Amino acid sequence: MTVHLVGAGPGDPELLTVRARRLLDIADVVVHDRLVDPRIMGLIAPWAERIDVGKRPGGPPNAQMDIHRVLMRVSARADTVVRLKGGDPFVFGRGGEEAEALRAAGVDVEIVPGITSAIAGPAAAGIPVTMRGHASGFTVVTGHEDPTADHHLDWAALARLGTTLVVLMGASRAPAIAKRLLDAGMDPATPVAAIQSATTAAQRTLRARLADFTDPDLHLSVAAPAVLVIGTVADLDLTHGSARDTTHVSTSPEISIDAELQYLVDDLTR
Ligand code: SAH
Repeated sequence: MTVHLVGAGPGDPELLTVRARRLLDIADVVVHDRLVDPRIMGLIAPWAERIDVGKRPGGPPNAQMDIHRVLMRVSARADTVVRLKGGDPFVFGRGGEEAEALRAAGVDVEIVPGITSAIAGPAAAGIPVTMRGHASGFTVVTGHEDPTADHHLDWAALARLGTTLVVLMGASRAPAIAKRLLDAGMDPATPVAAIQSATTAAQRTLRARLADFTDPDLHLSVAAPAVLVIGTVADLDLTHGSARDTTHVSTSPEISIDAELQYLVDDLTR
């Protein structure tokens, strides 16, 4: 009895790993979240049992324990159990806790990494999370911290890091996040992009400046699930406008490509 903890990627079924796809073909039981894309759900074998353990907002606080119980129960009676989670199973979403609970109960766990929305979300809007001359690193944080957490995020330190800041679960808290970063001295003109429902038909990108995000009306136009990207890379669009549905709130300067690259482009187009 093995539970395969499988990342489903950001939404587009073509962004599933080959292993995830194979496991969906052979699973007896698939235990999934509410957010898994319907096109991916459509790949599950018709004879497989599906169990939706998606927590509804405001659900009971012990919901995670219930998920552990469900996983233990199905692992005792089924050969191939897939626990399907959005993005990568170990990037938020409590995959670590599920693996820990299963191991403690003597159940084998296989981890199948997935493409995280923290990288694929920005990429879908043409934004590289790192880029020479812009950011030599990126930091991924939650915008929805567990109020009982021992270690609180130090937003003042995040404001000073100089790396791209990627915020998951931040759609409803965007004004508060922007305010904390501004209070910590981050430049109000810092580009911000909010990418909603990345890699699905509902993908939308909102591009603005950090100061614009303190406007409560602006953030209301960003619906979950969304990734916030904060940093100079958020001004880039390497899809050259071909990404789905983009709204600019304040005017962004043209992308400047460096001299070396310009030389190459001139050479190729000569
Ligand atoms: N394990 C997931 C993250 C789970 S937390 C991963 O690696 O992607 C859920 C958050 O992920 C959402 O609040 C949102 O911030 C982000 N998210 C997941 N799918 C997304 C998508 N298709 N587009 C934009 N954001 C997404």
